[in-house]
Amino acid sequence: MTDQHQRVPIALRTEALEQLLVERGLVDPAVMDSLIKMYETDIGPLNGAKVVAKAWTDPDYRARLLADGTAAVAELGFTGRQGEHIVVVPNSSTMHNLVVCTLCSCYPWPLLGLPPSWYKDPAYRARVVKEPRAVLSEMGLRLPDNVEIQVWDSSSEVRYFVLPERPTGTVDFSEEQLAALVTRDAMVGVARVMA
Ligand code: FE
Repeated sequence: MTDQHQRVPIALRTEALEQLLVERGLVDPAVMDSLIKMYETDIGPLNGAKVVAKAWTDPDYRARLLADGTAAVAELGFTGRQGEHIVVVPNSSTMHNLVVCTLCSCYPWPLLGLPPSWYKDPAYRARVVKEPRAVLSEMGLRLPDNVEIQVWDSSSEVRYFVLPERPTGTVDFSEEQLAALVTRDAMVGVARVMA
């Protein structure tokens, strides 16, 4: 990104780009608006939460999810743009996974909807690779020193998705109750799931 780009606010650049695409007949504004609305209102983190809850309660599904994320989430009906190559990385008591797109904002749309603004923030994208523990701490997640942090860089080739740890005290929870605990941030890896 050049200095020139940084001086022009993203909203203005986006608007200019959209106008250009519409003017040249490359994009139908009605189609674009309906797509955006769909990802804003119908498709969101609840999809990802259902995947997580199923993986917590069904060991065979968990195995399939880790072996081929795209196929396993499609079993639950979650397919579509930016969901073509999903790789699921599981957290454990000694390993914490964290997702970023250092280049732009690649994100598993069918599972999480549209990315939050902090995910697109150049500061998050640059710093999380160099000092993940500090960034997580600033975001409210303090990990013990014995927990290793692995940062995954999503791209147009691969979209990473974190399978959080199932919280203790949830043995009697149904799949629906478990899904209700799972947050977007936990599936990006900047939070843990709390009971
Ligand atoms: Fe990207």
